[in-house]
Amino acid sequence: MTYPTQPTASHFIDGQYVEDTNGPEIPVIYPATGAVIGKVHAATPEIVELALASAKRAQKDWAAMSGTERGRILRRAADIMRERNHVLSVLETWDTGKPLSETTVADATSAADALEYFGGLAGSLTGEHIPLAGGDFVYTSREALGVCVGIGAWNYPTQIAAWKGAPALACGNTMVFKPSEATPLCALKVAEILSEAGAPPGVYNVVQGLGNVGAALVQDPRVAKVSLTGSVPTGRKVYAMAAQNMKHATMELGGKSPLIIFDDADLDSAVSGAILGNFYSTGQVCSNGTRVFVQKGIKDAFLARMAERMGKAVIGDPMDMATTIGPMVSERQLEIVENYIRIGQEEGARLVAGGKRIGNEGFFIEPTLFADVTDDMTIAREEIFGPVLSVLDFDTEEEVMARANATEFGLAAGVFTNDLTRAHRVSAGFEAGTCYINTYNLAPVEAPFGGVKASGVGRENSKEAIKHYSQVKSVYVAMNPCEAPF
Ligand code: NAD
Repeated sequence: MTYPTQPTASHFIDGQYVEDTNGPEIPVIYPATGAVIGKVHAATPEIVELALASAKRAQKDWAAMSGTERGRILRRAADIMRERNHVLSVLETWDTGKPLSETTVADATSAADALEYFGGLAGSLTGEHIPLAGGDFVYTSREALGVCVGIGAWNYPTQIAAWKGAPALACGNTMVFKPSEATPLCALKVAEILSEAGAPPGVYNVVQGLGNVGAALVQDPRVAKVSLTGSVPTGRKVYAMAAQNMKHATMELGGKSPLIIFDDADLDSAVSGAILGNFYSTGQVCSNGTRVFVQKGIKDAFLARMAERMGKAVIGDPMDMATTIGPMVSERQLEIVENYIRIGQEEGARLVAGGKRIGNEGFFIEPTLFADVTDDMTIAREEIFGPVLSVLDFDTEEEVMARANATEFGLAAGVFTNDLTRAHRVSAGFEAGTCYINTYNLAPVEAPFGGVKASGVGRENSKEAIKHYSQVKSVYVAMNPCEAPF
């Protein structure tokens, strides 16, 4: 590898980089060229054991530190991440192919936000005092769960590693994180920076590997909790494995979110929302509003303005700051998207713009706009995870709400309208964990993020995440002699 801040080995365990070349090789492919720019080795059973043993060993002492001390380390890590934002953003671009214009503002910065936010909360995690009759009382304490496992998807490797690690560590847990095999590099830097900031050895470890390594981690009896970001099919498997031993679980899974645009909406603003909700990160965002319901009165104007705006996208070299759309993450993901575009046309959707692969080098595809999409079409039902926007027509609010909710998914939903009461009524009616009014796809650390229905269980970010990385103990204190019936 020839880029700055390259990780120096495959895994980060017990405060240092660790290599074991007996593990199967995983190539690191730069999506903009298809070139192999490095390799890591999947964890062998010995590596998995080393990481879990280290996390287990470190956990009690880490939890015994004051929250303020733990928080200080997280906040120091946030500062280091911000200082190194440029090189970390370049690494994120090598890993994912996302344009540097995005990674510079959305990845290490978002990870730093999480470290800073949960670092700030760590010292304020307290229990309750509950007064009872006769002077008795109960106090509660918020305790760490123990060793947590984080498993990541490939679209936001730095952010996911920190969104899971920061609340876990703030609560006194330790973590073993397994990045996606498609983007193995960035999580190693999160581990390295936490260590540099003062996290003791074993507090945050990273091991590489495919699903079998993830499964080995989830099933280990030393693990108290698993947090997965991935697809619904993987979520079903991991959630079932966690249930076998009553482990805590957070599932951040896929979606097919509705974005409803009423004819009183500000058209340019609505087009911007649909762009953010379909083409950012080349469409590889879980919360994307890929079913864009447009009220019939503005359909033609919306399609015309959208096609015009799509013509302004700058597709190309992700390292060029002028680029706004990079490649898909992998050849496989590109093929999946091409296949959905073909199915969309075969099933009768009207291709308005895009739809074609670009060049022979790298995994580029044009942002794609379909009109006249109906609810039963495959592209309206299945998560594509690529830059494919489907426009569906609607007449009334009642009709569109029923159609918007007629899906197994429930990650996000959005509405564009200038009618204040309708905006809130529609948001209340959405079966989704994260809703947007007159904007789309923002995920600030201060707000809970997560899905309902098949899109997930639990919440990341905000004070809600604390509940998912800690448990409450009740202590009953008697102030009088203990009485018994005989
Ligand atoms: P994926 O489900 O294929 O893989 C996710 C992770 O799970 C990878 O690290 C993989 O190695 C691991 N894994 C696979 N099988 C496993 C098993 N049996 N046991 C344990 N771990 C296993 O998902 P992906 O293709 O990497 O990511 C895309 C998916 O992630 C999309 O569905 C997207 O919507 C979703 N996603 C969700 C969120 C969210 O916050 N809700 C965010 C980003 C991505």
